[in-house]
Amino acid sequence: MNEIKIDKIIRSKRKTIALVVSADATLVVRAPMIATLEYIKNLVFKERFWINEKKKQVLKNGGPAKNKEFMNGEGFLYLGEIYKLKIENCEAVKLSDYLYFPQKYLNNAPVKMIGWYKQKALEKITERVHRYSQITGWKFKSISITNAERRWGSCGPSGSINFSWKLIMAPLNVIDYVVVHELAHITEKNHSVSFWNKVKTVLPDYKSRQRWLKDNRINLKI
Ligand SMILES: [Zn+2]
Repeated sequence: MNEIKIDKIIRSKRKTIALVVSADATLVVRAPMIATLEYIKNLVFKERFWINEKKKQVLKNGGPAKNKEFMNGEGFLYLGEIYKLKIENCEAVKLSDYLYFPQKYLNNAPVKMIGWYKQKALEKITERVHRYSQITGWKFKSISITNAERRWGSCGPSGSINFSWKLIMAPLNVIDYVVVHELAHITEKNHSVSFWNKVKTVLPDYKSRQRWLKDNRINLKI
């Protein structure tokens, strides 16, 4: 029997088993507490063709995330899409069919690129926060973009909400999830049942958006 390596088993209160091939082509199994290892292994064996196919796909799409190189053709994420870098003799970073990057920035490239991402994050996230604030009636005080490494968003005591610039690399529906999550924190500080119910009334499918963030975390970087 051709065994497939299980890289990680995450147990929780969930009722069903989910097999996830992560962005770094590892196999993560999400399983209920009571599922036996034998049961999980059997399921993985049964799904081996799907898993291998998925792994191949992930590797074809660039494989594990590495640090970005600032050269023509390197892929950069923006709103969930990969754009190829094109270095040109231009004045500022510009996005259209390619991500155009000024030659003059090359000696300080990561800082300049993060600056561009931050500006885009502020524009887009501000727009989404206003939109969801209007839909829900949940009031906020201010929005800021941070360098946070581990948290996608946070909520201050007086209704100020903060978002990591890295979020702008995620698809819009994932950004919206973090926006709604932080807006809900303005009145519900903890991750209580009523907090999650609040999120759910606005985004009934929030769990799949949340899962996307978990599974793709390592790709949201430069
Ligand atoms: Zn939270």
